[in-house]
Amino acid sequence: MPEPAPVLIFILGDQLSPGIASLRDLSPADAVVLMAEVSEETVYVRHHPKKIALILSAMRHFAADLREQGWRVDYIELEDPANSGSFTGALAAAVERHRPSEIRIVQPGEWRVQQMIDGWEARFGLPVRILRDDRFLCSIPAFRRWASRRQALTMEYFYRDMRRQTGLLMDDGQPAGGRWNYDAENRKTPPRGLNYPAPARFPPDAITRAVLDLVARRFGDHFGALEPFALPVTRAQALAALDQFIAAALPDFGDYQDAMVEGQDQLYHSMLSPALNCGLLVAREVAEAAERAWREGRVPLNAAEGFIRQIIGWREYVRGVYWMHMPDYAEANALGADRPLPEFYWTGETDMRCLAAAVDVTRREGWSHHIQRLMVLGNFAMLAGVDPKAISDWFLVVYADAYEWVELPNVVGMSQYADGGLLGSKPYAAGGAYINRMSDHCGRCRFDVKAKTGPDACPFNALYWDFLARHEARFRDNPRMRTMYATWHRMKPAQQDAYRASAAAFLAGVKPAADGWARAPLSTGVD
Ligand code: SF4
Repeated sequence: MPEPAPVLIFILGDQLSPGIASLRDLSPADAVVLMAEVSEETVYVRHHPKKIALILSAMRHFAADLREQGWRVDYIELEDPANSGSFTGALAAAVERHRPSEIRIVQPGEWRVQQMIDGWEARFGLPVRILRDDRFLCSIPAFRRWASRRQALTMEYFYRDMRRQTGLLMDDGQPAGGRWNYDAENRKTPPRGLNYPAPARFPPDAITRAVLDLVARRFGDHFGALEPFALPVTRAQALAALDQFIAAALPDFGDYQDAMVEGQDQLYHSMLSPALNCGLLVAREVAEAAERAWREGRVPLNAAEGFIRQIIGWREYVRGVYWMHMPDYAEANALGADRPLPEFYWTGETDMRCLAAAVDVTRREGWSHHIQRLMVLGNFAMLAGVDPKAISDWFLVVYADAYEWVELPNVVGMSQYADGGLLGSKPYAAGGAYINRMSDHCGRCRFDVKAKTGPDACPFNALYWDFLARHEARFRDNPRMRTMYATWHRMKPAQQDAYRASAAAFLAGVKPAADGWARAPLSTGVD
């Protein structure tokens, strides 16, 4: 009797979860798992070397675990001479080798990959079963239904529905502690002398070492430091990092989640997003771990709630917005911003200490925390009128947790207001006073945060008012911005002119980045 044709399960580099839907309802005897390191994914933008190393190492470890469990894994390494360089090419070769009865895959995270998958049935003449990615708590159709019932997509209401639906932080149908949101108790300025927990770090094993050599050789000219490399690359390591965060950092996460402190990269942040977004952890278990810690009295409610809101609220919400609005969302530019990205986003060479520090941690770690991303790097780009595509490419390249489904809404929508307010009811614009309140950068900066205009004044101050003036027609009737415009109109014309002249003079001295940092030339891909 000939062997029955197997099911070919294609697992992508951000689907590295033992419970992934494509592995369910099949036994190792009935299937072949295909995993492929393809150059089109490693070079479609010039990713941070740590991000490439994380994904390749995590894929190789995941494949080894599957083999140990008895699965037959057809694994194509990046430098395999037969590697075609694309998902479709890898699949074509695997179909030839295994003659499967069907192809099975979990819905990809990115629209671009979905377009590819949509052509497979016709191309291969085989059934292609695309399974829901149920690692996300809200399905895409469910998000569409939620959105279709609302005029404004307010995240807070989505989050409350997710709380009700999951039962997380709920007591008898009511929010734990009587309130949905404890942000009012968060965002404190950290006093001097706090003890910050040591981040979880995982020394490379032999598999990771081989990947690091490969990445150094092929992608060493990309932005970012490959080593030291200490990210979790296995499920066991990711779970250990989660445990360490819950025990050591979560208790203070709420209080200080918006703070920036010189010499402290992680503060009380989890730094779990790289592991979460490639599948080593899943949203529900992360949120449940935080809830358990609160119920057992190990963390305060404001910390657990703030963290859980990021996971089951914001993360799910931006994914829903992405899938509802692609592909147009990638082209959004509501404010007509067209300035090239400043070169210092790549070099870190700027006298603005807050920006230099944010670029520096990004270069070293492939990560920075959300206030550095939103209120320093994103805020500057929006105030300066940087093309949203240019800043979005930068975010996609430099962060180890960046996949288009999460990066695009966060950057184009939340940080740049390029979607015209779909995600946020007002732009996240701030002058130097905000950064001074939330950080200790300004005291060591060559600019004077209290000075309003002139060559020594903090550039954020003039850029802020210049931004409001440029976009007055759009924002002056926004109820959340009336106070700012009232202040602008109380200023004497000479003061307004001074702000605008100061902003123009500063921007005239900002060197634009040369082409090629983010997307081209692709000198290190597979030939
Ligand atoms: Fe940043 Fe301005 Fe403060 Fe300097 S003075 S660190 S540029 S906010």
